[in-house]
Amino acid sequence: MQIKTDFLVIGSGVAGLMFALKVAQFGKVALITKQGIMDSNTTHAQGGIASVFGSLDSFDLHIRDTLASGDGLCNSEVVELVVKNGPDRIRELIDLGVNFNINEKDLSDSESPQLDLGREGGHSQKRIVHAQDMTGLEVETALVNHVKKNKRITLFENHIAIDLITFSTRMKRGLITTTHEDYCHGAYVLDRKKNEVKTFCAKITLLATGGTGKVYLYTSNPDVATGDGIAMAYRAGATVADLEFVQFHPTCLYHPDAKNFLISEAVRGEGGILIDTAGKPFMEKYDPQKDLACRDVVARAIDTELKKSGDDSVFLDISHKDSEFVKKRFPNLYEKCLSFGIDMTDEPIPVVPAAHYMCGGVSTDMYGKTDIHRLYAIGETACTGLHGANRLASNSLIEALVYAHKASIQAVEDFHTLDSNSIPDLPPWDETGTTHGDELIMVSHNWDEIRRCMWNYVGIVRSDKRLARAERRIQNIQHEIREYYWDFKVSADLIELRNIATVAELIIKCAMHRKESRGLHYNIEYTSRDDKRWQKDTVLRRPFVG
Ligand SMILES: Cc1cc2nc3c(=O)[nH]c(=O)nc-3n(C[C@H](O)[C@H](O)[C@H](O)COP(=O)(O)OP(=O)(O)OC[C@H]3O[C@@H](n4cnc5c(N)ncnc54)[C@H](O)[C@@H]3O)c2cc1C
Repeated sequence: MQIKTDFLVIGSGVAGLMFALKVAQFGKVALITKQGIMDSNTTHAQGGIASVFGSLDSFDLHIRDTLASGDGLCNSEVVELVVKNGPDRIRELIDLGVNFNINEKDLSDSESPQLDLGREGGHSQKRIVHAQDMTGLEVETALVNHVKKNKRITLFENHIAIDLITFSTRMKRGLITTTHEDYCHGAYVLDRKKNEVKTFCAKITLLATGGTGKVYLYTSNPDVATGDGIAMAYRAGATVADLEFVQFHPTCLYHPDAKNFLISEAVRGEGGILIDTAGKPFMEKYDPQKDLACRDVVARAIDTELKKSGDDSVFLDISHKDSEFVKKRFPNLYEKCLSFGIDMTDEPIPVVPAAHYMCGGVSTDMYGKTDIHRLYAIGETACTGLHGANRLASNSLIEALVYAHKASIQAVEDFHTLDSNSIPDLPPWDETGTTHGDELIMVSHNWDEIRRCMWNYVGIVRSDKRLARAERRIQNIQHEIREYYWDFKVSADLIELRNIATVAELIIKCAMHRKESRGLHYNIEYTSRDDKRWQKDTVLRRPFVG
């Protein structure tokens, strides 16, 4: 089946939804998403969105904090762009019906109510615009409501993109060859309900497929975060960058029944203190900012404490604060912890670090353009240069919003230069000679092995030896996946397995390349930052296969 559209948007998080709404004013949009529309990292975002609204705050301060966190690798032009565009994008969300918290003192002043601003680690000012502790859910819900009402947007849920279609893509699956003058014409997409591969032909294609958390055993990310956009773009010949910079969130709830549940940074922002099993605070040993240090410092500190003590978790304690304040500020966290038998107003919460955010991704310019014509990438799947070697907390939602705006303007311009002949005839998906998979154990075993291998060898603390070991394992697994992929019909699990293996390979390659420690990349063999040799991005591009 072939579906023709003006804009193909892959992913229904904040990046994809916002872009879809903007470009829909100019053409037809097909929005595909691999599960339900709400299944995204965005829905899980708790803390909020960083933007300059405070009377003591300024663009310069937000820029300075972002650059400090990025540890010498941010693109300062991009930082300025995102920070200065931030307030307009927040106002746009408010106009779309997003209810952010208003400062209590201003509730009576209906003329000029001020947004309530939280503070998070690495921010020198209060600047986190939030909707209680469910900011992502509030934003996602508002955008989804608008998308569903928009007649120019056709939504395809349970549709998982397999591969991009570039001009020189040979149409036998897996055999993608690229020239350096490629054009993207859409994607092959598996309709999971009908088990049918459809050809989506588009004038403009957007990758907004989110993060890569599922590459690791422990993650705060939901199941959809398998790095599909990065893997697809790399296979199609796009440049990817800085994938060694994986942010581990220091505080995920440690409980056998709690899958991926994050204890927001904002808890430390509001006075929460990290303590060990004996109840002793330990952050002062690691950073002068103590519990408000940047995420990587806190995650490494917890990793060190756990390796030293052999304990299963450390604890985050906010029980010294007024219990009514805690319940009101963190209603979602409070309820969730209570459902696991932990009353955070009265006792410390057991926490461990977990893979949380991918700073690297598909390389783009200031408009979200990749180096494949008519292919854009925005949101967590992209590497714009904003985060450098370490993302500042709450800078990702704002990046996605600013780039949805910038990319939509550029994409519409591109679109207007194209006519109806701009998409060549694309042959359908070719699955001759394949049968239904008979060794599903191969898929589930390799899923597990990749994630364990990445956690153990390519985690918070790395070494050359561990990376080399991981590289060998992942190469073997990829060999098996390739054989299986060629012989059997595709399924969502197989598509994702292939993608997490590719992303694992790319993370390892980037990590092996960088012979220093910087931001989120820490290698015990090169413990300091080396600006002379390594103050540059790690860039990878798939070799040309003729
Ligand atoms: C628990 C948690 C808390 C967070 N808190 C904050 C915070 O407070 N502030 C902040 O700024 N950031 C936060 N983040 C990070 C932030 O939520 C994400 O970076 C951001 O939401 C990414 O948006 P996105 O649109 O790029 O991707 P997502 O929201 O992840 O959306 C990606 C979409 O692509 C779809 N998709 C993926 N692959 C395919 C495919 N092959 N085919 C079709 N569809 C596909 C997915 O199903 C999903 O719909 C948090 C993240 C997590 C996990």
